Amino acid sequence: MKNFFQSFYFKLSAIFLILLLLISIIQIVISFNASKKFHTVTEQSTNRALAKAMASEFEQFLTDSIDVAAIEHMIHYMMVINPRIEIYLLDEQGTILAYFAGPGKQLKATSVGLAPIRTFLKGEEELPIYGDDPRHPGRKKIFSAAPLRIKQEIDGYLYIIIESEKYDDAAAMFYQGFMTRTVVKGVLISVIVTGVLGLIFFALLTRRLHRITRVMQAFERGQLNERVPVEKNDEISYLAQSFNNLAESVVSNMEEMKRTDQLRRELVANISHDLRNPLASIKGYLETIQLKDTQLEPTVRQQYLETTLKISEMLEKLVDELFQLSKLDSHQIQPHLESFFISDLLQDIIMKFKPIAEKKQIQLKAELPEQLPQVYADIGLIERALSNLIDNALRYTDCGGTVKVKIFQEDQKIRVSISDTGCGIRQEELPLIFDRFYRVEKSRSRSTGGAGLGLAIARKILELHKTTISVESRENEGTTFSFYLNTWQHSNLQMV
Ligand code: ADP
Repeated sequence: MKNFFQSFYFKLSAIFLILLLLISIIQIVISFNASKKFHTVTEQSTNRALAKAMASEFEQFLTDSIDVAAIEHMIHYMMVINPRIEIYLLDEQGTILAYFAGPGKQLKATSVGLAPIRTFLKGEEELPIYGDDPRHPGRKKIFSAAPLRIKQEIDGYLYIIIESEKYDDAAAMFYQGFMTRTVVKGVLISVIVTGVLGLIFFALLTRRLHRITRVMQAFERGQLNERVPVEKNDEISYLAQSFNNLAESVVSNMEEMKRTDQLRRELVANISHDLRNPLASIKGYLETIQLKDTQLEPTVRQQYLETTLKISEMLEKLVDELFQLSKLDSHQIQPHLESFFISDLLQDIIMKFKPIAEKKQIQLKAELPEQLPQVYADIGLIERALSNLIDNALRYTDCGGTVKVKIFQEDQKIRVSISDTGCGIRQEELPLIFDRFYRVEKSRSRSTGGAGLGLAIARKILELHKTTISVESRENEGTTFSFYLNTWQHSNLQMV
């Protein structure tokens, strides 16, 4: 029960009922005032000519003096027919000369304001027009008035207050029956009908909120497949849809976290594996040299040392790659963009790889047209990515093959491509080669292939430059890696 009073449904219903009550009261007051106004307007307009008619009857009793007795005698009958009138004779200043309000009624004022009487007589303004009530100073009443000649010298007025005391009290009129029966009853019925219907609709609306809450609680308990059905197109449906979207992203984030965790485990396993084997080899060679120091042929000894050196270089490269990748992953490396000629950079890199290519008898060609616009990139990072790609191309191309580096302009960008005539990559492997530690030939020793980090680093670097790397390959025919770099002008345009 306590929960019910705290529920959204209860609050909504309470506010609704209070508003309904308020509207009903306002409606009753408005209806009452309108009805009262209608009543006064009707009264005044039906009695508009009353004073004029009476004035012509009275004039005979006012020629020499005010014949109060005769007038009283005459109006006695009128008051019987219409008891709701009080008659006053006023002089031209509004001073009351005589009054006929029925027995025992006392006057409290000696004069009446003439402005409303003049307005009434002009007949230009809308009714009701209220005038002074000499028996209740400060109160205003509807009236009828007509000019009247008194004692042949005073241009006075006949002033008739239409509503008498009995009809004066608003509350009394309210309880007269008509208002109570019609307006109040009508409002009460509409309040009850609207109230009941409103409560039913609120119950229906909040039922949908309850459903969303139930689904959310189920989701919280771990039922991750729970979703709220979205049937309509209103705010509650938007809420349901927002929850569904949130649930989807939570689920996908969780999956992503699981995947990352899995990747991290694999990474640790791969690193340990990649480190353990070369370290064991180095240890083995060094132990042999130590144990058989004197018995070893100098050439064999030299060979052991060379192998040990090669393995340690490979280890150094692996550690360097791991370090680089972890810095890229943790956003420790931010590209320092500058404009430079990519052809110049490529010339330098090719010079660096020339001896390796010659050793493997691979033709290392470059197509670097001059007058290409400068690119806008981090020169150090791009050098690293290009070195990884050229290094791969040379490593996976057999003796006698060709590796070609090409640059050309496409729209506002520079396209860089590195093609080789090497072993190629199977189509099903292509989407995986950029994953860290992924090697097409798992059995290949680390000395011939790398650790499977080169392409992951290249892709990460290009992502930092907001560009992507693509690969095309045919088995036993060759592979082409390519990517775009922004030109200096284009990046300036984009900034604008
Ligand atoms: P690795 O250091 O093993 O070369 P990479 O990340 O650079 O690692 O490359 C991942 C895998 O993609 C390689 O093991 C190799 O099988 C394949 N690969 C990369 N470049 C080429 C290429 N130019 N030709 C053929 N295979 C390639």
